[in-house]
Amino acid sequence: MPNKPSRHQQGFNGPRVRDLNRALVLEAIRQDPGIGRADIAASTRLTAATITNIVAALIADGAVEESAEREARTTGQPVRRLRIIASYATTIGLHFDHEFATGVLVDVAGNVIHQARKQLSIEDPASAVRVLARLYNGLRDHPRHVGKLLGVGVSVMGAIDNVRGLVCQSAEYPAWRNFGFREALCRQVDHEIHIENNGTAAGLGEYWFGDGRRLGSYIHVFIGNGLGGALLMNRRAVRGLTGNGCEIGHVNAYRDGKPCFCGARGCLETVVSLRGLAHALGHERVAELDLTALYAKRSDAFDQWVEQAGTDLGRVLASVSNVVDVSDIIINGLLPPPLLQRLIEKARDAAVGYEMNGRPERLAFHPGRAKSDLSSALGAATVPLYGNLF
Ligand SMILES: [Zn+2]
Repeated sequence: MPNKPSRHQQGFNGPRVRDLNRALVLEAIRQDPGIGRADIAASTRLTAATITNIVAALIADGAVEESAEREARTTGQPVRRLRIIASYATTIGLHFDHEFATGVLVDVAGNVIHQARKQLSIEDPASAVRVLARLYNGLRDHPRHVGKLLGVGVSVMGAIDNVRGLVCQSAEYPAWRNFGFREALCRQVDHEIHIENNGTAAGLGEYWFGDGRRLGSYIHVFIGNGLGGALLMNRRAVRGLTGNGCEIGHVNAYRDGKPCFCGARGCLETVVSLRGLAHALGHERVAELDLTALYAKRSDAFDQWVEQAGTDLGRVLASVSNVVDVSDIIINGLLPPPLLQRLIEKARDAAVGYEMNGRPERLAFHPGRAKSDLSSALGAATVPLYGNLF
């Protein structure tokens, strides 16, 4: 049944509360292997009785093991240590963009068991879905796949509609407009599917596999074919009403600018993206480019692009930071690392002139640490495990 907008704050019924608390406990153990029950209670603010019930259920399910004896720690009393059993279960994360589909098989401890990549033809949604289904089949049947498969997360090229059945829309690829993506993929995949905007998925990938967990709240931007954005606030992704929250790439940055993939014009990603860079270098398609080899030749076109893209990215990020009151910014992407570093430095310098000086925290720019070619697929893989908790 489709979700209907409600005039009232939505509550959680018993099973949902139990799932949320279970996910909290599981994550506390994943983040801090060897943690004891009392420390989980202190960090989650759940009662000791609730922790006991959840831990007992996790042990009975084979998800968690607890040491038989109390073990000494460097500080505090000895505890019976809890650890996740990595082989308990897996999830699959799939991601696609204009040219490639990527898939990862991940265990519950966060280890990548296998990864795969296939070329796809984005113009035809049905064939893109078939490529994703083949990736899924290969990962599900992989010889190193042990434990039960909890679900499949898919990082989808936006914009999506995660309320009405997750429709991908695009002005550039008319066949995607109002295409029933989830339904089409469900027909070929024998597991529950969770859809995530690829900008949010990359932000979650950084949370679980990069620097995000240390920061807790941050704006994440990912420079791929487009420019994905994510907002993590107090360790939770802010998704908005339809799953398209924090689409920084579609902030209008250029009055009367070029038409954008999204159907608007003058969006930031018309310049700050691989496609924007390709255009600056005189190419139509990103696939034509060997950016690393081209960058090694150091043409003026790169310098001009860094100057404009870095300045505009910094200006927009300062404005977004002022709106959401989050000061840490993580930038990742598929640029050659030295070029990405230059872009980050340019954005940082440019942002200084646009941030509110009175805020307690000044803007801080960080390079992403999640593996950039996998971060969206990794982020998608975490979604079945933790539902909408994070
Ligand atoms: Zn746009």
